[in-house]
Amino acid sequence: MALPILQKQIKMENSKEMSAWLEDFGLDHPLVIAGPCSAETEEQVLKIAHELKDTDVTVFRAGIWKPRTRPGMFEGVGAIGLDWLKKVKDQTGLLISTEVANKDHVKLALEADVDILWIGARSTVSPFIVQEIADALNGTDKIVLVKNPVNPDLALWMGGLERLYSANIKKLGVIHRGFSTYDKSKYRNNPEWQIAVEFQNKFPDIPLICDPSHIAGRRDLIFNLSQRALDLNFDGLMIETHWDPDNAWSDAKQQVTPGRLVEIMNNLKIRKVTTDEKSYQLELETLREQIDVSDQIILDALGKRMKVAESIGTLKKGNNVAVLQNKRWNEILQTMRARGGERGLSEEFITRIFKAIHQESINHQEKVING
Ligand code: PEP
Ligand code: MN
Repeated sequence: MALPILQKQIKMENSKEMSAWLEDFGLDHPLVIAGPCSAETEEQVLKIAHELKDTDVTVFRAGIWKPRTRPGMFEGVGAIGLDWLKKVKDQTGLLISTEVANKDHVKLALEADVDILWIGARSTVSPFIVQEIADALNGTDKIVLVKNPVNPDLALWMGGLERLYSANIKKLGVIHRGFSTYDKSKYRNNPEWQIAVEFQNKFPDIPLICDPSHIAGRRDLIFNLSQRALDLNFDGLMIETHWDPDNAWSDAKQQVTPGRLVEIMNNLKIRKVTTDEKSYQLELETLREQIDVSDQIILDALGKRMKVAESIGTLKKGNNVAVLQNKRWNEILQTMRARGGERGLSEEFITRIFKAIHQESINHQEKVING
């Protein structure tokens, strides 16, 4: 008996329909979602919303059910916050959005006519919870955004989106909020931009929004992260905004004031994805030809290097010598880092690329030695 498959994977062709909602907004700039990490009081919510009203912000955000890493902290005001969000919509005309993390949240948010619901990073990691949310949302015409899971797993992120897609939800998008790491870096959550870029390559039409607040964890990094996101063709930004950030009940360090948000929005450079301008196209073509030539040279050199590695493999086999020669490898790495530096190549890049080359060499040698 064949297994019944109820879930659908998203194909590139049918990702287009998911972006129609964003086009319908008719914006001439990236979508901006802003508002506090958490709704705290009715007064706080309305004060922030009124300050965002006549800006480029289209959607107001506020968490009312807060997933906290450890218990004993402020866990959100709960359903009463929905009444405050409704007032935001009535008084300012901003669209409203909040995080939902189970079927009860979904039911209440739909009843309150919340325009955009998002699935948080701690929920996206769980297919059971995402499925519960998808089932509760089945067929809704509300917009649903899926944050990346806390761990850097593109398939899990796509899986979340696909569960919603399979539940006949067509207004979809994703939010990139960075990934947890054990090693501390300057970011609260590492951006791992390549994952977002890979997502875009797979689904160029699905709206992709960056949440620099949760990547950064501190407000002074938000401008640069936002600019980077726009340079990578993200479709929008979600930025936590509070009228008194330092005294916010959650995520105090990363929130900005509405005034600072406006400053950020004004200073961001929005670059075109491309242009038809003749001179630009011509110059680009010439430069790309040079890139193609360089790539060919790199490829030929790598091919040649591996042939030499195989000859070494034969030699080592004949003399019964081990493949891995640590001393020699460390010398190569050091020389290459120094020479890379002279050419403006970062140590980190050289290390990564030569580790990969070295591994491939070992594979070739092992094939020779072990047949
Ligand atoms: C939030 O947006 O406030 C939030 C809890 O985010 P994340 O799910 O990305 O941690
Ligand atoms: Mn937050």
